[in-house]
Amino acid sequence: MSLRIIFLGTAASIPTSNRALSAVALKREGELFLFDCGEGTQRQMIKAKVGFNRKTRIFISHMHGDHILGLPGVLQTMSILGRDKPLEIYGPHGIAEFIESVKKTVGFSLRFPVKIYEVGEELLCQEDEYEIRSAWAEHSVPSLAYALIEKPRPGRFDPERAISLGVSKGPLWSRLQRGFEVRLPDGRIVKPEDVLGPERPGRKIVYVGDTKPSENIARFAFGADVLIHEATFAEDLAERAEEDMHSTPSGAAFIAKKAKVNLLILTHISARYSDPNILLEEAKRNFENVLVAEDFMKIDVPLKE
Ligand SMILES: [Zn+2]
Ligand SMILES: [Zn+2]
Repeated sequence: MSLRIIFLGTAASIPTSNRALSAVALKREGELFLFDCGEGTQRQMIKAKVGFNRKTRIFISHMHGDHILGLPGVLQTMSILGRDKPLEIYGPHGIAEFIESVKKTVGFSLRFPVKIYEVGEELLCQEDEYEIRSAWAEHSVPSLAYALIEKPRPGRFDPERAISLGVSKGPLWSRLQRGFEVRLPDGRIVKPEDVLGPERPGRKIVYVGDTKPSENIARFAFGADVLIHEATFAEDLAERAEEDMHSTPSGAAFIAKKAKVNLLILTHISARYSDPNILLEEAKRNFENVLVAEDFMKIDVPLKE
C-alpha cells in the first residue's frame, strides 16, 4: 500500500526561481490528495506527473492568495483534459464564493461535478481504510490543518497456527484474514484472534498551512508519521513571525516534539532564505528528525508492522 508525499510548491507569499507557491500532493494507491493550491500548481502537477483525472480531493488551508490562486487553473485544465470524475474541494468559509465568482467572471464551465465543502474542525471523510480530519490552526485568518489517518490493519496471519487448529487452506483462511470467525466441518469455531497477530497501526500524515505554533495542532498531530509544518521566518525574524502569525523552525520543532511525531518537514519558506540550512539547523536544536522541503521532493511513508 504505497503512500507518497510530493512537494509541489514550498515558497511563502511569493515564488522564487526554485520554489513555487504552496501545494503538497499526497498519493495513496490510485488516489490523489492535494493540500493547498498556490498559483502555478497545475504546472508543478504536470512536472511531477501526478495526473489530473484520478480520484482527487483538494484541501485548502486558508483564503490567502499564495494558497488558493492556483485553484482556478487546476480546475480549468482538468476540464480541458476531459476529466469526468467528480472532484471534492474542502476549505474554510469563503472557498465556495471564490470558486463561484471565478466561474462567473472568467466564464469557464466545468465538465465534471465539483462538490465544495466549507468546513471547520471536523471529520471530513470516512473511507474503509482511512479517514480525513481537519483542525483549526492559528493564523491571521481562519486556517485549517488536515490529517489523513489510516485505520489499523488486521494483524499478520499465522498459517501454521491455522493448520494446527484444523483450518484447511482456502476460503476459510481468507475469511479469517478479513476478520470473520469461521465454523469448521466438525462444528468448532475459530476466531480471527486465534490466528492473527496484533493489529498493525495505520499511517498518519498531517499538513498544516499557515499558523503560529499552536497547542491545538500539537494535539491534532499527535503520533503522526509525518508532520508538514510551515516555517516562514528564521529565528532572527521571530518577532515578525509572531506579528504575522507564522512559525519559525524552532516553533515548528517545538510542536513536532510535543506531538511526538516521527518526521517533521518544514515548508512555506520565505524567499529571503536561499540557503535552507539555516532553517534546518535552528529546527534541529529542538527536534532531530527534520527536513526542509524542496519543490519536487518525494517522501515515501512505509507501512508500519
Ligand atoms: Zn502563506
Ligand atoms: Zn497566510
